[in-house]
Parts: sequence; structure tokens; C-alpha cells
Amino acid sequence: MTLKWHIIPTGRVWVDPGGAFGLVPRSMWQKHQPPNQDQLIPMDLNSLLIFSGDKVILVDSGIGDKLSPKAMEIWGIEWPEGTMLENLKKWGVKREDVDIVINTHLHSDHSGGNTRIVDGKIEPTFPNAIYMVQENEYFDATHTNVRTRATYLPENFDPIFTNKRFHFLKGDSHITDHVRTVLTPGHTPGHQSVIVEGGDFPIFFVSDLASYAIHFAKTAWVTAYDVEPLKTIKSKEIWQKWAFDNKALVVFQHDITIRSGTLIKNEKNRYEIDVKEVGSLGK
Ligand SMILES: [Zn+2]
Repeated sequence: MTLKWHIIPTGRVWVDPGGAFGLVPRSMWQKHQPPNQDQLIPMDLNSLLIFSGDKVILVDSGIGDKLSPKAMEIWGIEWPEGTMLENLKKWGVKREDVDIVINTHLHSDHSGGNTRIVDGKIEPTFPNAIYMVQENEYFDATHTNVRTRATYLPENFDPIFTNKRFHFLKGDSHITDHVRTVLTPGHTPGHQSVIVEGGDFPIFFVSDLASYAIHFAKTAWVTAYDVEPLKTIKSKEIWQKWAFDNKALVVFQHDITIRSGTLIKNEKNRYEIDVKEVGSLGK
């Protein structure tokens, strides 16, 4: 059974560092991710493309292209490496070819490319795909509160629901012989990460369990967006150990300099990221 995977850039945005680093003092985070002159930090929006047997799987879909010009300006969106569809095409994948879209969660920077506008109507971007998300994540996205409202945009998931393209997962799930999802709650209660096994080493696409690489090494560093920060820390402790024990290649979705690496322990027995730019398997 064939297994190949590729990191798919879908765009880059510029955001306030308070979101990503929350309570972490600036003196500590800025050496890992320096801000620009407007005091904003870059955040990549990378997806993962997996060929597993005869299935074409896309994990997350970036922020999409449905935003208003004003919203695009606020996000400072740019495409230094091309759009999601352009990058899928590089690996021979057309919209029609995608069988499964896995959303780690439904925040707008992870599900925006789920849908697109055609003749003023919003429709699923991948017409033949089943979209998979945790059932409680979908519930939270459709039952927001004042704190979560701005992070979920119904146009990214309502058309998937109305077109009956959702498959709701209930807990850790086996997707194919190579691909499984694991619950990593905290950023949102229904947040999941994706593990790809069957190659020389496991791939661990952590999503916002660790937005930037440094978040994975520093257990207490959680984003200000995390709905349940203490749960993030608990999830991270579990999966740091797993990634270390299994020598997994951890893929960081938002980090513009460290896209992937393994977790190692330094002389003080503290976790560190050993940067490994693998980027692809089976070119
Ligand atoms: Zn995110």
C-alpha cells in the first residue's frame, strides 16, 4: 500500500503575538518568533496532503479565499508559496481527487478552504470528499459563545453540512491503514491531531496543540485562544512523551521557520525541538 505525504502551504497571515503567546513574556517568545515593525508575527497556514493506498487525504484547508477585502487586509494574508489549490496541483491533485478532508478543528484558519464561492453561492471546495471532524467540535462551532464566536465562520462548515458531506468522528479514529486521528483537547474541546504511520517514522501533525514549534517543547506555553488551557497542557504532556518515545516527526502548521522536527531532551532533561526539514515523503 502506497504512502506519501507532503506539506501543502495555503498562505501566510500576520497576527498579534498576544494570540499565539498569551501569558508568555515577550522577552521569552520574541527570540523564537521576532515581530515585524508593526509588532505583528507571521503565521503560516500549512495543510498536509496524504496519499494512503487509493485515498487522497487533506488535513485542514487554511483560511480559504472567501474573506472580504477588508478581512484580508486585517489578516495581512499573502501567498509566498502559492495557494492551496496551486500546491495540490504540484502533486497532481485536483479538487475532484480529494477523498477525505480531515479538519483538526473548525477555526477559520483551519477550515476556510473547505468551501469556495461559485457564482455567488458557497459550495464544498472538494466535491467528492467526505469531511471529517470531531462531533463535539462541530457542536461547539455551531453553538458559539461571546468568546468563541469570532473564531468560527459558518460559511466554512454550514455548506458542508447542508450538502451532507460531513462524517462526524467520536473520539480517536482510524481513517486508513496509515492515518488515524487522536483527541488533543484544550485549544478547543474537540481538537484533534493526525498521526501518519507506516513510513520510516511516524508523522505527527499536531495542529494547535502546538501552533509554533516552541509551543511543543515548552509545556506551559499555550495560546490565548485556548478554550481550556489546562487541558492543552495535559494533552501536551501525553503527546510530548509519545512523540519522544516514538521519535515522531512533528509537523508544525503555523511556524514559518520550523516546519517539522523531533522532540529531544537536552542536558537539563528538558524538551527541545531538533529541527528536521523533511517536508515530503516519497517524492
Ligand atoms: Zn490555528
